[in-house]
Amino acid sequence: MGPSSVYIHIPFCSHKCLFCSFTIAVAQTSHSDDYLDRLAKEVGQYQGVSVDTIYVGGGTPSMLSEDQLKRLMTVIKENFSLRAGCEITMEANPEGIDLSKAATLKELGFNRVSLGVQSLNERYLKFLGRRHDAPRAKNAYNILKQAGFNNVNLDLMYAFPSQTKQELEEDVCAIASLGSEHLSLYTLTIEPNSRFYAQALKLDDDEKIAKDYQRVTEILGSYGFKQYEISNFAKEGYQSRHNKNYWSGKEYIGLGMGAHGFMGNRRYWNTERLQEYLTKADARAGFEELDTKTLIMEKVLFGLRMNEGIDTTLVPSDKKTIIDGFIQEGFLMVEGPRLKVTDKGRIVLDELSARLI
Ligand code: SF4
Repeated sequence: MGPSSVYIHIPFCSHKCLFCSFTIAVAQTSHSDDYLDRLAKEVGQYQGVSVDTIYVGGGTPSMLSEDQLKRLMTVIKENFSLRAGCEITMEANPEGIDLSKAATLKELGFNRVSLGVQSLNERYLKFLGRRHDAPRAKNAYNILKQAGFNNVNLDLMYAFPSQTKQELEEDVCAIASLGSEHLSLYTLTIEPNSRFYAQALKLDDDEKIAKDYQRVTEILGSYGFKQYEISNFAKEGYQSRHNKNYWSGKEYIGLGMGAHGFMGNRRYWNTERLQEYLTKADARAGFEELDTKTLIMEKVLFGLRMNEGIDTTLVPSDKKTIIDGFIQEGFLMVEGPRLKVTDKGRIVLDELSARLI
């Protein structure tokens, strides 16, 4: 088999959003040419690998210039063998998209864009430390459509402290009505290493957030989005193949600063330091080998995030009693050969997962 998905990390950002805990390099775009040189060497190790999905994430990949994007795609095409219909996604921020860049991306062969809108409420955009406002986000979306992208994801964040029901509903409706094919939902969390963490920002209680989550899923349903994973919604035919590969426990190659990969039974990760990534011959910072039991449990836990669930035969024998208990309590259900999470279970999935481990 081998990996058929590739994640490429472009770490550059103009500033740090207040909720962000990703591996990024702020205000260091002067290194982006060197970064692409280094990336080319790393990609070179996978010459000839046949791939079905590529995801260029960040950071802010849309900060790369059009020439740099061309170089990146050349490196990809010169090394990987792209299967017919290969899903090639690029993450973009609204302020990084103009008509010329969108047209270049399309021409280069990117066929999916994930746009970091997060909210169309000006107050919450400022609260999050985003650099765009609502008109800019809508304009970026329209530009992508004008350039011919027929597979666009929009990120939507909720659970802002004291967000009212009306604000939530207005925001979800405003984003859903733009007409994208896919929507990824993010619950605001306070991650160590974020500015919100340093400010000791307090979130609303879990009960309110669970209610808001339910309301969001209802609204998205009314706009034709079908939920296929706990945080992901798509119109018919537009589920993200790349992400589904992760949740199905398939192998993937991770490239770039801080990127993670998974091959065989080994999960590995690259250095999170830009200078180290640029200068060291081996970008790897570490790896762990997962035993069969752990690999199966990961498949179970990730698989249950998806509405399609998992094959019942995947459940390890020593977990059957606890799974049966969840079924009786209405958190899980069996449908034919599949074990799936119910709507009731989806709200407390993290808790169920913790009990399963
Ligand atoms: S949230 Fe995105 S744009 Fe903001 S700092 Fe993090 S990676 Fe950069």
